[in-house]
Formats: sequence, C-alpha cells, structure tokens
Amino acid sequence: MKPGPFTYHDPASVDDLVGLLGSLEDVKLLAGGQSLMPMLNMRYVIPDHVIDLNTISSLDGINDNGSALEFGAMTRQADVLENADVGNKAPLLHEALTHVGHFQTRNRGTIGGSLCNLDPSAELPVAALLYEAELSVQGPDGTRQVAMKDWPLAYMTPSLAPEEVLTSITMPYWTEPHGSSFMEFARRHGDFAIVAVGCLLAVEGGNITRAAIALGGAQQTPYRLEEAEQALVGQPANENTFKAAAEIAKSQDAMSDTYVQENYRKRLAGVLTQRALKQAAVRAGA
Ligand code: FAD
Repeated sequence: MKPGPFTYHDPASVDDLVGLLGSLEDVKLLAGGQSLMPMLNMRYVIPDHVIDLNTISSLDGINDNGSALEFGAMTRQADVLENADVGNKAPLLHEALTHVGHFQTRNRGTIGGSLCNLDPSAELPVAALLYEAELSVQGPDGTRQVAMKDWPLAYMTPSLAPEEVLTSITMPYWTEPHGSSFMEFARRHGDFAIVAVGCLLAVEGGNITRAAIALGGAQQTPYRLEEAEQALVGQPANENTFKAAAEIAKSQDAMSDTYVQENYRKRLAGVLTQRALKQAAVRAGA
C-alpha cells in the first residue's frame, strides 16, 4: 500500500520546524521512518502534513558533558551503538541497542524516534528510564524538560503536544564502579521484546549500595521496579537477594495480548530480573 496524500516539508533548522509546527494542523514528524513509514503505508495514520526531520543537522550528535551523555533526537541508533563514550560510560545502553531491530533498521532508526514511538516493548525507553534521562522538548511556546519517568503518559503516548518536537535526550551515567545487564526474551532475534529487563548495580564489600531496575514489554509502558531497588540496597549481592527481587518483579501487573498471557509475562519478569541482577553483580566484581 501507499500513504494517503500529504504535503511534505523539509525545514533546515529547528526554528523553521517550530514555525511549521505552530502554523500547521494534522502533522506527523518523520525521523528514521522505521515505525512511521509502515504506519503511513498501511494508512494507520493519514496526516495532512509530514515534516522531515532528516534535513535538520543540529538534531544529530552525541556529546559527553562530563557527567551525562547528550544525544540529538535524530542520532541514529547505529551511531549510538558504535559510540565509544556510550560503550564506556553507559554500557547498558550499548547492550540494550544490540536487541533493537536489525543493523539495517538501526542505520535509519533514531534514539528520539524510539522514545517518541514508545512501543511498550522498545528497549531504548527502558535504558532511558534506568539512566534517569531528561528529554528536551520544543514548541511554539518554548522549550521544556521532561524527566523520563514522566514521559510515558499511556500506551504509546509520550508527554508531547502535537505542536512539539523532541530535540535532545540527556542521560546521566553512573560514575561509581558498577555493573549492568540488559536481558530480554523475544520470539526471534530483532523482534520486539516480550519482556525486557535492564539493571544497574553498585556493590561494595559484597553488599549492594545502589540499584536501578527497569522492565519493558510487561506493561503498557516501561517502568522502574522501585520496591525491589529499595529492598536491594544494603543486602549482600547473592542469589537469595536476587530471588527476593525476582519475586517482587513477578508480583507486578502484566498485560496479556494475542500472543502472550499475563502469567507468562509475570514469570518471565521474575526469571529475567534474577538473571540480570546476577550478571550485573558479576560485572560489578561481586
Ligand atoms: P519514526 O518511525 O520516523 O517515527 C516514529 C514516531 O515518533 C512517529 O510518530 C514520529 O512522528 C515520532 N517522532 C520521531 N522523532 C520525533 C521527534 N524528534 N519529536 C517528536 N516526534 C518524533 N524497535 C525496538 O525498540 N525494538 C525492536 O526490536 C525493533 N525491531 C524492529 C524491527 C523492524 C523490522 C523494524 C522496521 C523496526 C523495529 N523497531 C524496533 C523500531 C525501530 O527501532 C524504530 O526506529 C523506532 O521505533 C522509531 O524510530 P524512527 O527514528 O524510525 O522514528
């Protein structure tokens, strides 16, 4: 199939883009097109206007500001995956990206597109939650910052007004020694996750001093497992501690869909949480 008729716009700057967003109705923004193009072709969306973000070079790029990694929203997933700073400072983001689609889709797909598409099974929103990312959004009324924990409003619904654009993502990285792990279970490699678990763990003298755990695919939006994180701190980094955290993961609500029932997702959440915590602890030197 082919998209319905629309007017195409290719602004050269964010200011031109914001001007268009303030003057047009019924707009879709085109980033890597790896989710939007199929939606257009299948006519799930039939916008009057498509504004191409690929012509705005200032929306692309990666910068390490000394305490956080800053990504332009149009930074390609492949560039994030290959970036040395990401590999050294945010290894969980690197590992999560290895599960995103295929190298062909990652060459076009962008970090901003994945966060705006907000598929419940997408890996990048889980990583952004773990690093407590800040998202910069711009529109005719100016710029605002949104904490990643406040970004998902509902199923595939980010905190983004129709006349706004996500311009950048800032991800503070952990500076203390720590380990991380990102695991998922999908029907095939490159498929969206049925359940994905990511965790960061700092361990000192065999005890856990800091923990962050986030899940994707289990509920309509990704979420942090705060109850388990608090329970982990102060505990020894051992199998019993991870088992207790897994029980908390298993007890969370989970969605059912055509392919997977709630109980199966709950069981997966428990098993993957325990395995990911163990791997992160080993990587933390425990
Ligand atoms: P687009 O498709 O261009 O846009 C997606 C949506 O976000 C649109 O609504 C668009 O308007 C909006 N948008 C994009 N950028 C902005 C912005 N800066 N500001 C405001 N709105 C914006 N993803 C996974 O996470 N895991 C997978 O395993 C996975 N497997 C895939 C397999 C295949 C075969 C394909 C084709 C895709 C797969 N994807 C997967 C999706 C892929 O990662 C997409 O790249 C991503 O979901 C959207 O990024 P994009 O840059 O292509 O955005």
